[in-house]
Parts: sequence; C-alpha cells; structure tokens
Amino acid sequence: MPGSATDAARLSQALDQLDDRFVWDAERMLVKAVELGHHAQDLGDAVLIARADLTHANLRMRAGDLQWAAREVPKIHERAAGLNSPALLARTHVLWAAIHRHLGDASKSLEHAVLGVELLDETATDHMQIWHRAKLGDALSLNGSLEEARGCFEKATDLALQKDLPELALAVMNNYAYAACSADQQDLALQVTQRLRDLAAEIGYELAAPMLDTVGTVEIASGEFARAERTLLACLDQHALNQDADADALPEYLLTLARAQRGLGAYERARANLETSHRLCSELSLGQVLVKVYEEQAELHAAEGDFEQAFAAHRAFFDAYVEMRSQQDEARARTRHAMLGVTEARQEADLFQDQARRDPLTGLRNRRYVDEHLPGLLESGQPLTVGLLDLDYFKRINDLFSHDTGDQVLMQVAALMQAPTQELPGVFAARLGGEEFLLVLPDVSPQQAYEVLEGVRRAVSAHPWARIRAGLQVTISIGGAWHPGDGPTVSQRKMLSTADRLLYAAKHTGRNRVVHDLPLDSAAPVGVSGSGHR
Ligand code: GH3
Ligand code: MG
Ligand code: MG
Repeated sequence: MPGSATDAARLSQALDQLDDRFVWDAERMLVKAVELGHHAQDLGDAVLIARADLTHANLRMRAGDLQWAAREVPKIHERAAGLNSPALLARTHVLWAAIHRHLGDASKSLEHAVLGVELLDETATDHMQIWHRAKLGDALSLNGSLEEARGCFEKATDLALQKDLPELALAVMNNYAYAACSADQQDLALQVTQRLRDLAAEIGYELAAPMLDTVGTVEIASGEFARAERTLLACLDQHALNQDADADALPEYLLTLARAQRGLGAYERARANLETSHRLCSELSLGQVLVKVYEEQAELHAAEGDFEQAFAAHRAFFDAYVEMRSQQDEARARTRHAMLGVTEARQEADLFQDQARRDPLTGLRNRRYVDEHLPGLLESGQPLTVGLLDLDYFKRINDLFSHDTGDQVLMQVAALMQAPTQELPGVFAARLGGEEFLLVLPDVSPQQAYEVLEGVRRAVSAHPWARIRAGLQVTISIGGAWHPGDGPTVSQRKMLSTADRLLYAAKHTGRNRVVHDLPLDSAAPVGVSGSGHR
C-alpha cells in the first residue's frame, strides 16, 4: 500500500544516514538496511527500493562479499536508469567504481567515479558532494593522475570545511595523504598529514586508528621512523578502544609499526610485532596481509645481516604471493562473470522481446507489436493516420510465377515501406499477416500523411520488378484512416475497420490507389489517388 509523503521523506533520510557514514559497523548496518528495504517495499516507492538495495549491496561489499555486490549493482543500475533520480545514479556509479577498483580495473573504476561526480545535482546530500569528489580523487590517483586527483581532494576538503563537516574533511585528507604517498610525493603527503593533524587538534578530534596508520605510513616513507613509531603506538591505542574495526585492521597496524621499528634499528621490537601479526593472519586466514608480513620479515632478517633467514622468509613470501594472486585471479574471474552474466542475460532478453514483435519474413513489426502500441497512440491525444496496404492480385503473382517469387515481392514491398519510417520519428511499418501491411503515422499532418501513403504507392508501382522475374509487375492499394487526436478516442478496432473499408473502396475503384478520409485542404480529387490499371 502506498504510504504518505512524510513516510517517504523519513525513509529517505534514514537511508542517507546509513549511506553517508564513514564509520562502519557493517553487520549492524546491514540489518538496518534490510529493514529499510522492507519499509521501502511497503511504501511502493521505486526510488527508495532501489536506494535500499544499493545500500545493502554497498554494505555487502564492505563486508568482503564483492561477488554479491558485483552481481546486484548492474541490476540496480538498470532499474535506477529509468527512475529519473540522478542522485541515485551517482551513488550507483560510486559503488560501481569501488567494485572495479577491487577487481584491479583502474580505468573502469575511473569511468564510474567520473559519473559519480557528474550526476551530482541539488538533490545530492552534502556528504555525497564531498565524498564522491574524494572517490574521484582516489580513482584518478590510481590511474596515475595525481595532479588532477589533487584538485578533487582540495575541492572536497574545502567543501567539507565550508559545510561544517570537519570529520569528513579529515576522512578526505586521509585518502589524499595516502594517494600522495602511493605516488611517491612524500613532501605533499607530509604536508597533507600535517593539515590533518592540525585540523584534528583544532576541533579536538582524536585521529581514528585508520588515519593514524596512514600518517605513520607517510612518516616511514619520509624516513621519520621515531615519529612513525609514536604514531603507530597511538594507532594501536585507538584501535583497542574501537570494537567495530575490520578483521584485518590489527595485523595491518602491527605490520606498519614493525616497519617503523626496523627503520629505527629496533629489531627486537619489530620482530615481536611481526610475529603477533603473523599469528593473527594465520588465525583469521588473512592471505593478503600475510604476504606483506613475510615480505617484511625478509626485510628485517636482511637488515639484521641474517641472509639465510632472509632468503627463507623471501621464499615463503613468494609462495604466499603466488597463492594470493591465483586466489585473486579466481575471484576476479568469478566476479567479472557475474557482472557479464547480467549484461548478457539482459541483452538476450531484449533481443527476444524484439524478435517476438517482428515478422520473420520481412523484418517489419508484427501484429503483436501493433496491438501493444496502437491503442496507446490512439489515446495519446495526438493526431494519427493508419494506412492499410494490400497487394493487388497477389494470388496471381504466386500462381503465375512462384510462391518464392511472391515472398521476394513481400520483402521488397516491406523494404519500400521502411523509407518513411527512417525519415519521420515515431512512424512504423508492420506486416499484419499474409500480404496485408500497416503504416502507422503518429503526430503527422494530414497532408504529410497523404504524401507518405501516396509516396509508398508510387514507389511500389515504379519499382523495377522485372529484375526479380521478367514480366513481373506489382501494385498496392491503400486505405488511409485519420484520427484527429482531440475529441472522443477511437478504438484500434474501429480505426482498422475504417481503414479496411477505405481499402475495399480502393480495390473496387481500380486498385493501385490510395483512398482515405484525411482532411486535406485542396487535393484533387479529394479522397482518391493513383491510377488503376489492368
Ligand atoms: P486483391 O487485389 O483483391 O487483394 O487480390 P489478391 O489476389 O491479392 O487477394 P487474395 O486475398 O485473394 O489473395 C491473397 C494471396 O496472398 C493468397 C495467398 O496465397 C497469398 N499469400 C498470403 N501470404 C503469403 C505469403 O506469406 N507468401 C506468399 N508467397 N503468398 C502469400
Ligand atoms: Mg488480401
Ligand atoms: Mg491482395
């Protein structure tokens, strides 16, 4: 049952709150998203249903179920595309960008991130205006365009400060610093982390563990190991206060800490932290972090001068790396398959839909298509002309030549009927069955409709038929019925029976002619055209 506008507004706000959060507690939020999805279903609001489905897919992806998200997002996008909600589409593209990033497809990720910003309109939340720009910054830097990425990050930071969302500004700067560090721009990375620290101090915000990990990573890259160790110890303290962190967070932080300690020459401390990280990775089957732990262990042994151990650790690293890559490749293949499957299935369905509405011999629309479209056109309030076409003495053609020649004639007549459909939008040609055809001309003036029908008649009559078989000559008769659009609506049956009556008149007044009831100003002779023969 459709709900009230206030219900919808309240639900929309609840979804915004869920979408626009950068502190994640995936499990609890997932329960909430499902609940809001049911609510949207109850309201029967297509935009909100799609919104809730998107939130759900986003949370699934954050929880590590990439395949699920990759399968659902194309479907949601397809629905969203027809709903006239740019903000919903913008959210869809940002999620799509994240999926491609996880799949290792940087350029596809960028394409979608661009759309995530381009589609922002006044209905987008402030959070989206800011975060979508930061995500575009991530995608640009992933594609090696740090300069352009800087523009996005700066703009997103400014907007966040302007809208008085300093915590969001910190999240943007976190990504900004990480991007600069990955691009080996250590001066810039340091400068951004300094701004991050300053802003946090200004608003009395204790940097969250993931931000401290970024800051520490930047400090290590800049050779500031003592500072980095202090930063990472603070990171571990922050982490201990937060129960909702991702599973792989702690082993990652311990690894960054060990790197800082190796840089300091504090090998004992580094080794102890690496061992803890290693144990956690094994317990939680965190293959990706484990690879980095082995790599760091090899570095540590080498720094200590123990090359035998370094070599053993390096081999372990390499084996784990190969294993991880093959698992990633498999996951990518599975996920791509899921995404492609949806596209292909849809294309097949479209093709099937179209084929079921076409005549196989001529490729024209069939009666089913006419039945589906003509009633709506007659009710639309716009003027409409239908031309019912029938071949003259077609039985003779079959008898004198062959059925096959008859078929070729039908195909050629159909081709000649296609010409006006190319020139006039909305005009279509159909084969109703046998040697009977229909031209439908919506929103075309009586004069123009007359010219089209008369043009087809003349084109058939003037066609060089002898090229198919010597001695072959083909003409058609047409009944043209007019509906002005305004006034009482006319049924499809009534319209076609009028056209049939006019066609009958054409047959009985000599064939090869158009008989119509079009309100022409001054056509001579009114209602009849063409010249009979035979
Ligand atoms: P009229 O000018 O009065 O329309 O004469 P006609 O011979 O065209 O009229 P009639 O309706 O008696 O004959 C139609 C013929 O069309 C009969 C049938 O054999 C032929 N026909 C119907 N469908 C097809 C088709 O798909 N292929 C071929 N080759 N012939 C067909
Ligand atoms: Mg007939
Ligand atoms: Mg006929």
